[in-house]
Amino acid sequence: MLKQIQGLHHVTSLASNAQSNNDFFTKTLGLRRVKKTVNFDAPNVYHLYYGDEVGTPGSVMTYFPFPGARRGSRGVGEVGVTGFTIPKGAIPFWKERLSSLGISGISEKSSFGEDRLHFLGPDGDQFALIESADDRAPWTGNGVSEEEAIRGFHSASMRLRDGGASAELLKFMGYEEVDKQGATTRFAVPGGNGAHVIDIEVLHGAGTADQGAGSVHHIAFAVDNREKQLEVRKALMDTGYQVTPVIDRDYFWAIYFQTPGGVLFEVATNEPGFDRDEDTAHLGEALKLPTQHAHLREVLESKYLEPIRD
Ligand code: ZN
Repeated sequence: MLKQIQGLHHVTSLASNAQSNNDFFTKTLGLRRVKKTVNFDAPNVYHLYYGDEVGTPGSVMTYFPFPGARRGSRGVGEVGVTGFTIPKGAIPFWKERLSSLGISGISEKSSFGEDRLHFLGPDGDQFALIESADDRAPWTGNGVSEEEAIRGFHSASMRLRDGGASAELLKFMGYEEVDKQGATTRFAVPGGNGAHVIDIEVLHGAGTADQGAGSVHHIAFAVDNREKQLEVRKALMDTGYQVTPVIDRDYFWAIYFQTPGGVLFEVATNEPGFDRDEDTAHLGEALKLPTQHAHLREVLESKYLEPIRD
């Protein structure tokens, strides 16, 4: 069993509009945009990162907003609900705030002994705010104070037709089965980074998800550094997983592999971080381009990347 993985690093999803995506995460949920860059493989599309002050691994929600992308449909083989931790007692604040801002799909639930507020993002993305004890420092502002602010991810919930092989994989990656409720089994990394819970929900008869706007594209797991990442890569490959070479993503190094249940996994390093090319005070303000796309700045800014109004 591996010991290098600390929990989630980031969750990356698809959107249909950069402006509404930006407004939802900054103005509605009160996160900080920590990076405004472009998709490495499609530089005419933004890659937007939201999180705490510095984009601490375990707090970072990222999006590829493909203008006008058709909406995905829910099913098995994907991450259903992305959960964020909020302090105990903060649900009434969020329920009132999300309702007053016209957010849809708001419902209160309780599972695994925790109160949760479910709601939908601009493209039907499924989110939950989950009340849980957490000592991570929040980003505050936009009408959200420390008593209510999001601390980072709580969990990601995978919806699978058959959870067995994915459960085995999670255990191999260092997760332990910690609880079970109905069709959902909860896994957690002991001593993890706060974003260290994964739920597997098994839905035998459900159809396969169709990826589009509002769908999670992949989830990334955090390791400290490149050395630990190489250890994880070797262990996965020795077990039979096809893992990509290490890819430099400017703010972390990444490896990717497809999992038995259909969810794309990444393992990303905590180094070098989002402040490697910007002052912490101005994180996420300027459009940053990967070196190989720097020569495209003029055409990208004038033709493809509609300016985002903050
Ligand atoms: Zn990623």
